[in-house]
Amino acid sequence: MKLPTFWGGIHPPQNKVLTADEKIEQYLPKGELVFPMPQNIGAPCAPVVAKGDRVLVGTRLGNNDAFVSAPILSSVSGTVKDVTLRMTTPGTFENCVVVENDGKYEKAPEWQPLPDYENIDPKEYLKRIRDAGIVGFGGATFPTAVKLSPPPDKKIKWLIVNGVECEPYLNCDNRLMLESPDEVVNGLKLVLRLFPEAQGVIAIENNKPEAVKTMEEAVKRLGASGITVQPLAVKYPQGAEKMLIEALTGQEYVVTALPADVGCIILNVRTTQQIYRAIALGEPAVTRVVTVTGDAVAHPKNISVPLGTSVRELVELCGGFKEQPVKILSGGPMMGVSMRSIDVPVVKGTSGILALTAKSAMLKPITACLHCGKCVEACPMGLVPTVLEPLVAARMYKRFEEEGGMNCIECGSCTYVCPAHRPLTQGCRDGKASVMAMRRKAAAK
Ligand code: SF4
Ligand code: SF4
Repeated sequence: MKLPTFWGGIHPPQNKVLTADEKIEQYLPKGELVFPMPQNIGAPCAPVVAKGDRVLVGTRLGNNDAFVSAPILSSVSGTVKDVTLRMTTPGTFENCVVVENDGKYEKAPEWQPLPDYENIDPKEYLKRIRDAGIVGFGGATFPTAVKLSPPPDKKIKWLIVNGVECEPYLNCDNRLMLESPDEVVNGLKLVLRLFPEAQGVIAIENNKPEAVKTMEEAVKRLGASGITVQPLAVKYPQGAEKMLIEALTGQEYVVTALPADVGCIILNVRTTQQIYRAIALGEPAVTRVVTVTGDAVAHPKNISVPLGTSVRELVELCGGFKEQPVKILSGGPMMGVSMRSIDVPVVKGTSGILALTAKSAMLKPITACLHCGKCVEACPMGLVPTVLEPLVAARMYKRFEEEGGMNCIECGSCTYVCPAHRPLTQGCRDGKASVMAMRRKAAAK
């Protein structure tokens, strides 16, 4: 049977075998934890605690009342040690709340299950989802309560749980589906109460047959009649919103629109599980699963970890580096962000830590474009990366916009296939950031 997919894309080596069978290990750190205030797309939080304050698991550390935002909650009990600038994943310094962990993991009393949650007005879920600090845990970090509040004229027909996890090396979502399938299905069932006319779909790339089977069994066991499990062809970037929507619904999706414009809402696996936990179990979003992997890591693992934990501690939990890495990324090899240091905290968007040796990092010298057209063939957005990169280098941002550069989803496919090793994705990333900065400046005038 031909499985649904999309036009373009690539087939990079999966390299998931390193952690595919590694059960999620729970880790409870002991020392200080660091909570950067910007952790979601939209308005960043500002600290709402001060040095010396006592906090519990679920105490609000940062907040912003803007519509598109999500609070940041403490993942441990202890004392606020400082509110100060600390280094974060991309190497920038951000305002952070630093908590000295008392090791007791005492939960704030307000975190209780929502009473009679299966029968209450589902609109009450939205406040709980926001208060729990839930965002897109796939890496996008868009506040989930906002995503679940589309304008009234948008009729939602598809609620899609994104279990594709097409990034090579990563297994955090795969392991969650294998180990907590009921919580994922129950999370989707709750969200379906908000959109009773929608069809629930759990989309999984077909390189995870065990996850497909496990989720199908959970759907059946829980009598979730409005939910189906849909395997998808194995192709990168199958998990990107546009590709997912087009593969599942057959509709064309313009990336500048919102999924709700074509009747879709897409939720990550962990996000869906966390919705269930926040509503039914009274658990705030203060932990996440991180895949720590790569050929430089002694014992790659999948680890459930309180947010704010130092990445260095996770690497040490994996036995440290068996070989000096030449490249460390937060996320996967295609869309991950280069890390300058591992002395940074795990945040809501940290899906993986990937440490590569020279052998697998494949750092090659950049040469002149060969005009082979491979980047054009690979681009799932139908862009011409070989034109976009020089436009950004020449700071011709208007032309960059005219050529559709703002539609780039930064998937890395063009860079991956380029025989000249041109930094095509980075070019688009820089171009988009410059255009956004110019737009902000113009709006402020
Ligand atoms: S131009 Fe952007 S969307 Fe197209 S392949 Fe490159 S990174 Fe992906
Ligand atoms: S893949 Fe690389 S070498 Fe080939 S056309 Fe694109 S930029 Fe040029």
